[in-house]
Amino acid sequence: MQKGNIGVTSDNIFPVIKKFLYSDHEIFLREIVSNAVDATQKLKTLSSVGEFKGELGDLKVQVKIDKNAGTLTISDRGIGMTEDEINKYINQIAFSGAEEFVNKYKDNAQAIIGHFGLGFYSAFMVSKKVEIRTLSYKEGAKAVCWSCDGSPEFEMNETYKAERGTDIVLFIDDENKEFLEESRINTLLNKYCKFLPVEIAFGKETEWKDGKSVETDKDKIINNTHPAWTKKPSELKDEDYDKFYSELYPMSEPALFHIHLNADEPFKLTGILYFPKIKNNIEIQKNKIQLYCNQVFVTDSVECIVPEFLTLLHGVIDSPDIPLNVSRSYLQSDSNVKKISGYITKKVADKLQEIFKKDRAQFEEKWDNLKLFIQYGMLSEEKFYDKAKDFALFKNVDGKYYTFEEYKKLIEAEQTDKDGNLIYLYTTNKEEQYSFIERAKAKGYDVILADGQLDVHAISQLEQKNEKSRFVRVDSDVIEKLIQKSSDDSKANLSDEQQEVMTNIFRSQLPKIEKTEFIVSFENIANAAPIMITQNEFMRRMKDMSAMYGGGMMNYYGEMPSTFNLVVNVAHPLIDGILKDEEKCCNEKSAPVFGEIKTTEDRIAELRKQHEGKKEEEIPTAEKEEKENLNKKVGELRKNIESIASEYAAGNKKVRQLIDLSLLENNMLKGEALSNFVKRSVELL
Ligand code: ADP
Repeated sequence: MQKGNIGVTSDNIFPVIKKFLYSDHEIFLREIVSNAVDATQKLKTLSSVGEFKGELGDLKVQVKIDKNAGTLTISDRGIGMTEDEINKYINQIAFSGAEEFVNKYKDNAQAIIGHFGLGFYSAFMVSKKVEIRTLSYKEGAKAVCWSCDGSPEFEMNETYKAERGTDIVLFIDDENKEFLEESRINTLLNKYCKFLPVEIAFGKETEWKDGKSVETDKDKIINNTHPAWTKKPSELKDEDYDKFYSELYPMSEPALFHIHLNADEPFKLTGILYFPKIKNNIEIQKNKIQLYCNQVFVTDSVECIVPEFLTLLHGVIDSPDIPLNVSRSYLQSDSNVKKISGYITKKVADKLQEIFKKDRAQFEEKWDNLKLFIQYGMLSEEKFYDKAKDFALFKNVDGKYYTFEEYKKLIEAEQTDKDGNLIYLYTTNKEEQYSFIERAKAKGYDVILADGQLDVHAISQLEQKNEKSRFVRVDSDVIEKLIQKSSDDSKANLSDEQQEVMTNIFRSQLPKIEKTEFIVSFENIANAAPIMITQNEFMRRMKDMSAMYGGGMMNYYGEMPSTFNLVVNVAHPLIDGILKDEEKCCNEKSAPVFGEIKTTEDRIAELRKQHEGKKEEEIPTAEKEEKENLNKKVGELRKNIESIASEYAAGNKKVRQLIDLSLLENNMLKGEALSNFVKRSVELL
């Protein structure tokens, strides 16, 4: 018998391991099972190079719970350890045997997992005592039993063990009794060991007999030793990829496409990524990619390894070259991780491009489900943008798809304005902006459907990237002005007085809508509606943005009322009729007022001229007072005009009716105003 101290520098390494080494105690199982798998793979390697000549036999790793003894045992039939090896690999814990082994068998030891450093000792996170019973594969080796109760002292004895390999017996401590529950161990094996390369047996298969499920004597294998990503793409059919997807995410809808990753240089990486259907909410889709290291599950939060937008993808990445158990900030600065991230981004872009080129119909069919992902990528990764700009699509209101280039060609002739800007028209809601879309179409314009979560951002990005390109929503101005072909020929030819009266007429009849303001303006457009309501593109975007983010300058825009333009079209006979009718009714009253305004304003102008170049104190007080009074008078006279106009407007039901119609067209007529409109319509009929 041998007694000794475990070769660590500090007496108190165990409390450290227990508490801080791993944040999750549960990973001890991954470590111990990985070691067993490692030992098994090593034996296979030795056998394949002829250094081990015996029978390999059944190489399954067995996981067993003994509730009475309070133990969890992990047994393998791998290489085992001699006393010397235990001394070297276990007692000097900083010494990693796997590293030495890999160096020796570089070319054959691909499948070795020795990645986790202090792996074995993680057993002490959940155990009050750990026993190793092991028999080395080496000829004439003697079986050894090592045991340690968590203090830095261990015992090592010769023992009897019939079979080659190692049993690790964990005497689970009182705080960790959960690890003696079958269901808990099952869950953990499923999480960490589901794709280990050596069969792991836990429990027995069951079968139905006489109406109930009974245990058979067949071992239940919990893992798939050859998951799809470890195979060559040429060995796999689409069905196999689909099957693997449902193995990973049993409850999910089928994915859209997959990408098989396979890199050797300058880093090793395999994996399969899937494009899920991404409908509307980006957040809930994230973090489904699982990261493995030689088929051992490591984590499902890969934000530090792949660019943010790729976390929307699903699937598996397996790489021994991603440093594990290190901090996130370290990961992000690691040069391998950076290369890996670049590699995956490129692969994803290449795959999309390939599908686009090979099968445009399929690509279009899936576009609606891909759009959000691609836009996210284009907005967040410049490199991805550079590739995606050639296959990203616009969908127009008729459901047709165009690449950016194709679309440009489509609209170039009709939608270039007088200054050479290419104007892209878009709608965020086909139903609500219907009549604007119709007007645009009637003009021979095309309208893009931009109703996605990221469209606002995508649009600003395209404007930045493409000179002389502007995106305007169909309802942001009257159609003639959306794309201005010649200098303003649609100006209404109203006299100042007419304009003042008409403004008063329409403004007086506008209903009060909370947080909404209207500016009345006039246009002269043949064959267009009498009144149109539009909203300035810039202001609307600012409001949209503030609704999305809030805070700071954005908040300022958010607090402001929405301003709409009420565009009165004097070319329309109904408007012209109102103008003529008003003049007939009100001229008698308003003409003298306008006359008085004119003489008053003339006098103000005269005074102003006299005062030109004079300092404030040089102007006689009487003249200052006169000017002030005259200004006041003009204000009152204008009020007078306003009340004549609104009195007229109140008596002319057509005014209110026309306003309501245009509000209705824009989904802005609600509640009492809507009900009044209906009543008035019936009266008018
Ligand atoms: P690592 O696996 O990173 O080397 P561990 O602390 O998990 O670190 O294990 C230390 C060493 O102990 C291993 O490298 C291996 O040589 C040996 N070892 C652990 N478990 C077994 C086992 N089941 N069979 C044979 N050797 C083992």
